[in-house]
This record gives sequence, C-alpha cells and structure tokens, in this order.
Amino acid sequence: MTFAPEATTPVPASLVREDRETLISIERVSKDYVSDAGLVRALREVDLTIKKGEFVAIVGTSGSGKSTLMNILGCLDRPTRGTYTLAGVPVGDRTNDGRALVRNRMIGFVFQGFNLLPRTTALENCELPLQYRGVPVKERRDRAMKALAAVGLADRTHHTPNQLSGGQQQRVAIARALVTDPPLLLADEPTGNLDSRTSYEVLALLQRLNRDVGITIVLVTHEPDIAACASRVIHMRDGRIVSDTLNTPPLSAAIELAKIPPPEKASGLEAEELNDPVELQKRRLGGPVPFSVPLAMFGGALLGALVGGLYNAIILGSKNAIIPLVCALVFEAWLGVRSAKKRLGRPMTFDQRARLALGYTVTVFATFGLLFGWLAIPHLPKLDMTSPARVALALVGFVLVVVVAAAARFGLLTAASKLVWRRPAPPRTHAAAQT
Ligand code: ADP
Ligand code: MG
Repeated sequence: MTFAPEATTPVPASLVREDRETLISIERVSKDYVSDAGLVRALREVDLTIKKGEFVAIVGTSGSGKSTLMNILGCLDRPTRGTYTLAGVPVGDRTNDGRALVRNRMIGFVFQGFNLLPRTTALENCELPLQYRGVPVKERRDRAMKALAAVGLADRTHHTPNQLSGGQQQRVAIARALVTDPPLLLADEPTGNLDSRTSYEVLALLQRLNRDVGITIVLVTHEPDIAACASRVIHMRDGRIVSDTLNTPPLSAAIELAKIPPPEKASGLEAEELNDPVELQKRRLGGPVPFSVPLAMFGGALLGALVGGLYNAIILGSKNAIIPLVCALVFEAWLGVRSAKKRLGRPMTFDQRARLALGYTVTVFATFGLLFGWLAIPHLPKLDMTSPARVALALVGFVLVVVVAAAARFGLLTAASKLVWRRPAPPRTHAAAQT
C-alpha cells in the first residue's frame, strides 16, 4: 500500500507550523557505531525541527536509522556530532544523569513490546514513573487512575499484564508514559505487535491525546496505514531524511476503526471474558459436572465388564478379573466423556475431570463397601481391626486405593477427552495472520 498522493504535500521546513513554538531542534546530527564489521553511520547529518503539538511519523526500511534517531530524541543516546535542543535547552551533550533528568521530566516512551512489569497491576505499572519522582502515595494513585481512565481502562486497574489483551497492554503503556504529563511522547513501532483493528484503536487514542491534550507525538512505524494517521510523515533512508511531507488532513484512526468489521461476537465475548479474573476463574473450574456423566460412566462400566467377561469366557476360557476390569474402566471413561461432550458442548476442564474422577470413585467404593457389608459376603477377607494402629492402617490402605483408582480414572478421562475432542489444525487466527 502507498500513501494517497493527494493527501500529502511537500512542505519547505520553514513553513511547518510557523505559528507554534519549536519543541525539538536537531542540527547536523550524526551517529556512528563502531562494531566488528567496522564503522556504521546510522545517522548522517540530520536536521529536523518539530513544533509543539505536531504528530510526526517516521518511516523507512529496517536499518534506515529510525530507532537511532528516536534514541537520540529520547535522550537515551547521544549524537556523535551535532546539536540537539529540546524545548530550548541543549540536551545533546549532557551527561547520563543530565539526560536521565530530561527524560523523566519531558518524555514519555511507548515501545513495540509494551515493556510492562509482569505480575504488577496496571495501576502499579502506571504509578512507577511517579514513584521514581518521589510523588506521595495518594497523589500517585490518583494520577495513575486518571491516566488509566484517559486511555479507557478505568475498569482494568487491578489487572496484571497477562490478564490484558495486547491492545489493552499498549494502552496501559501509554497511560504510564503520560502519567507524568510530558510534553513529548515517543513511540517506536507501538503497533508492531498488534492486529490492524487494535492498531487503529491505539492510533485513535494517540490522535485524541494529540488533539485534546496537545501532546507532541513522534512515532516510528513501517506501516503506511499507520503513518497516514500522522499529520507529518518523515521518510528515512541510509541515515538521512529523504522526504518530509505534511498529511492534510491525516487519516482519522477512529473512522478507519469504524470501517473494520467488529470481531465476531463469540471471539469478542471470549476476549472480554478472558480479561475478567472472575470469569477466568469460572472457566478454569468449568462449573458442576452434569449428573448424566457419572451415570453414563456407570453404564459404561457395566457394559465394559460384560464385554470383558464374555471375551474371557468365550475366547480365553479364563476367569481372570483383569480384562473385565480394564474393559470396564475404558468403557466407563469413553461413555462419560461422550456424555460430557453432549451436555457441556466443550471439553471438561482439568478441575471437572478431577472432581468427577474422585467423586465417582468415592461413591462407587462407598456404595459397594456398604453393599458388601450388608450382604456380608462370607468369603470376603475380614479386616483385623483389633487395635487403633490396625484401624489406622486399614484407613490409610482404603484412602490409597481410592486415590490410585481416582488417579487412574482421571488419566483415562483425560485421554478419552483428548480423543473425543481431537480436531484438525486450528483455523488461522487474526494474530497469526499478522506475522
Ligand atoms: P531502524 O530502526 O530504522 O531499523 P536502526 O536505527 O536500529 O534502524 O539502525 C540503523 C543502523 O545502525 C543499522 O545499520 C544498524 O545495524 C546500526 N546499529 C544500530 N544500533 C547499533 C549498535 N548499537 N551498534 C552497531 N550498529 C548499530
Ligand atoms: Mg528500529
């Protein structure tokens, strides 16, 4: 895809937003890297002026120097030659500490990989920059809440990154970048890990912040559609700026977003649910197992025992109990899983299989224990219960038998479930299609 030619007009640098104050000014900036392969001239005498309130996209092929330029703009790195003036202050040749101070006061960063702290809530992630500045707890919390609300995540403050979708994580990262109210936001491929719909969501947010709050944004992207949302597009090649054009008017990410059909109801619902810890917990547990499942298992056990017994009697002519037992267990698991598939419409969860195996085993053992006790089958070995130690031993033995039997059932249920729910290769997902 290319940029719509009618939307871009080349502008002399002198005409760019003459009415506004200059925020960034770099003059004849070069960056050389010395590596094993020799000298790499990542930036070659770049001149660039960015006014307050601009939304600039930097595009160019890989290796053209975009990240190098961003690192210098973000005071993460120093130019080898040339000057960098940020809001009237020369910052290019400052020491590490000096640059760190400028970074903290002036610049918010958003990266392709979100760079959020794992196992840390959205709120805590957003509080971090304020914590570094020594802002008191209460104010920290209030400001982080406001920043999250500004990116539409007021209801996700206590979620950790792994409970958030990619787009939501990037929005947390944007909230974190903005919590200190910096005049400049630098974003290096902020949508590089997102599908097109989510990319436009993030872009719409950036456009809104740029328009309503007046924050200056410099964004690196290799996607023309994303660059088209900026009001100015700078092309880089071989460490140089090869074109600098105004986008009039820029593409509205919100309008582009509206054009993309919403995700299918089911998958959208799923995504929402997967973000909700209560819903996640429910899904993990899977709810109660319908009563028809253990009934089907019992039927399967009887059928299996019958089949195994007949096989023994007719083919083998033996009275070995192993074959009917194994047949009973296998039929039991198979019919149980079939019934669960019919009733639940999805595979049983780990938790459901464990509950089923244990509950079924205990019920069966208790029932038959009572039955045998009641019938007082004479040749059943009588347990020696003459001392507390022996009673304890018998109990431990009983528990062990139950555990082993339940574990065997669990294993069979799991295997049967895998077979019953075996599927061809999963369909290509949106995320997979991205890469
Ligand atoms: P882009 O972000 O446009 O893909 P970069 O700014 O990352 O490009 O890189 C520009 C050039 O500088 C590339 O040739 C790259 O290999 C080189 N480069 C970047 N960082 C370093 C480094 N730390 N050491 C050596 N060479 C580097
Ligand atoms: Mg890069």
